[in-house]
Amino acid sequence: MFRFAQRGAIEYLEAEAISALDFVTHAFCTRLGGVSEGPFSGLNTGFLVGDRGEDVRRNLALIGEAFAIPSERLVLMGQVHSGRIVILDGDAPPPGSIPECDGLITDRPEVALGIRTADCIPLLFVDRVRRIIGVAHAGWRGTALRIASRMVDLFEKRFSSRVEDIMIAVGPAIGVCCYQVDGPVYSAFSLWLGVESFLHPCPEAGRWMLDLASANRIELTERGAPAGNVLSAGHCTACRREIFFSHRASLGCTGRQLNFIMLRDGGC
Ligand SMILES: [Zn+2]
Repeated sequence: MFRFAQRGAIEYLEAEAISALDFVTHAFCTRLGGVSEGPFSGLNTGFLVGDRGEDVRRNLALIGEAFAIPSERLVLMGQVHSGRIVILDGDAPPPGSIPECDGLITDRPEVALGIRTADCIPLLFVDRVRRIIGVAHAGWRGTALRIASRMVDLFEKRFSSRVEDIMIAVGPAIGVCCYQVDGPVYSAFSLWLGVESFLHPCPEAGRWMLDLASANRIELTERGAPAGNVLSAGHCTACRREIFFSHRASLGCTGRQLNFIMLRDGGC
């Protein structure tokens, strides 16, 4: 189950089963609580969308203050709809951003992994036994590239995680109610097992409705994740534009909400 919560002016969603773990902090921020204006109004964290840079920096600072994340400890991705995943380990200071990747994994405490979205799915991962965290950006391309499974692969390979210990939160994203796609997207999924449960024909020829959250859930359970470990937010960003940024519902002119997870030092 997910629930809305608030810190200062910032309203966010949290997955209750992850909030129950005392060694992580996470949030799926909404657009509520920031200083941006116009089409970016609220808590926009995207620098490349046309918003004022000073407002975006202020919004990131507000999130940092609310969740006790020093600004130099937040790592963001230059998201490119790829399957590339970067592992952050070692003692070097964390980079502020990593260009061209769509997944991050770390075992380092006090490093917040962030992902910015406005319709695409933010996936947050946590190995509750080994205390490893990750984030991934899953739009239709990343989903079709099976980035969710690639994350699990790396958890296992690099950190000896067991898939049954990994919890995955599927954050707010565009829902099947609003996500109409065309032939190339259909082709990317047409051979998937269970495709009929997440790609539905439209009355309009050559169009389908894509349920990205279900596609990722199926991908993860096929990969071995217990169904109970895959937690879905279930809010459609396009239906709820007053709460979330939605690229599609705003015809491309909008902000990006921040989703993040961080390991805490000294949890027990
Ligand atoms: Zn919708």
